[in-house]
Amino acid sequence: MKIIVCIKQVPEGVDVKVDPITKRIIREGVKSIINPYDLYAIEEGIRLKERFGGQTWVISMGPLQAESAIREAIGMGIDNGILLSDKKFAGSDTLATSYTLSLGIKKIGDFDIIICGRETLDGSTGQVGPGIAEHLGVPYITYVSKIVDIRENEIECIRLMEDHYEIIKTKLPVLMTVIKEINEPRIPSLKNMLRAKKIEIPIWNAEQLEGNDQFFGQDGSPTKVIDVWTQTIKKDGRKIEGDPEVLAEEILKELKKLGVL
Ligand SMILES: Cc1cc2nc3c(=O)[nH]c(=O)nc-3n(C[C@H](O)[C@H](O)[C@H](O)COP(=O)(O)OP(=O)(O)OC[C@H]3O[C@@H](n4cnc5c(N)ncnc54)[C@H](O)[C@@H]3O)c2cc1C
Repeated sequence: MKIIVCIKQVPEGVDVKVDPITKRIIREGVKSIINPYDLYAIEEGIRLKERFGGQTWVISMGPLQAESAIREAIGMGIDNGILLSDKKFAGSDTLATSYTLSLGIKKIGDFDIIICGRETLDGSTGQVGPGIAEHLGVPYITYVSKIVDIRENEIECIRLMEDHYEIIKTKLPVLMTVIKEINEPRIPSLKNMLRAKKIEIPIWNAEQLEGNDQFFGQDGSPTKVIDVWTQTIKKDGRKIEGDPEVLAEEILKELKKLGVL
């Protein structure tokens, strides 16, 4: 079985800064991590290989620094990694991102299962997984909470809906997006980390993907960001210090002032 996991490197934390002119997230100089949901996708890929045999790949589209995310996934136990990186990919919206990733996946070759996270920490659209499936012409199952079985080229999954679960069966190849409930991501092992340090990560550019330039990056992105702003979080807290008795009185006074009591 050939399993391909899509991972994205995202800025760590919620303190995301946006360039006021380009309206794009400032990624330079910001500590980056693997999108947390993608850790579940990586783990599920490794577990599928452990259950059914085969080989696992991770693929990421992003700047050269995204190579570290690929090495981290290999440290967890993924076999191979590919980075798609080219200036032409800059400014990609979800349509251009899923187009570029679908070309990378085609170049890796025949596959049985593609696994994505349910969404990212920064963009959070949840559109890229289904977008890749559409570009590749394969079925997709979103919000998968459990892979029940894979038998005779057919997969059975449980997916989460708003207030219930669904059991879905479909033929392979398939793309799925997974939710946190599906597993507990493992910690990288020393053996795999040593392997990850040494392994060569091929970097494929736009020319190697043999796509149509008009569908890459900004040119291939119909989404226009009109405005972006950050939310200011008001902190109205007041620190009260002193003896417990005085403190209790002060707290009571404050609560009365607020109309809570
Ligand atoms: C006009 C415009 C310009 C933009 N320019 C840039 C830019 O220059 N650089 C930039 O990084 N972003 C840019 N973005 C943001 C970019 O479109 C999204 O971050 C990207 O398309 C992924 O969408 P998402 O974060 O909502 O992913 P989701 O759809 O929420 O992600 C779901 C899953 O898809 C997979 N996935 C998503 N993105 C990737 C990826 N890149 N590689 C591998 N797997 C992935 C992961 O498994 C992830 O868990 C731009 C957006 C707009 C609208």
